[in-house]
Amino acid sequence: MKIEIKWLDDNKDCETDGCSGGWAEGAEVRLNGVLIHSLVPVATCFGDGDNWSEVEVYKTILAGLGYEIEESY
Ligand SMILES: [Zn+2]
Repeated sequence: MKIEIKWLDDNKDCETDGCSGGWAEGAEVRLNGVLIHSLVPVATCFGDGDNWSEVEVYKTILAGLGYEIEESY
C-alpha cells in the first residue's frame, strides 16, 4: 500500500485595518493513486475556515483505514 499526501495551504489577504487575513492548511490523500481524503483548506479572517493540522490529517488517514486511536496523558 502506498499513501501519498499532498500538503495544501490557503492564504487570505485582507485590506481591513487591523486585520492581517488568515492562513489554513490541509491535504489531499491518495491510497495507491486513488483520492481517499480531500481536506481542502479555506483561510478566513477569523480562523473559522477549514483547517487541518498535520496530526489531524494523519488521524483522518488512520481512521479511514479502520484504526481507532486512543490517547492518554
Ligand atoms: Zn479581514
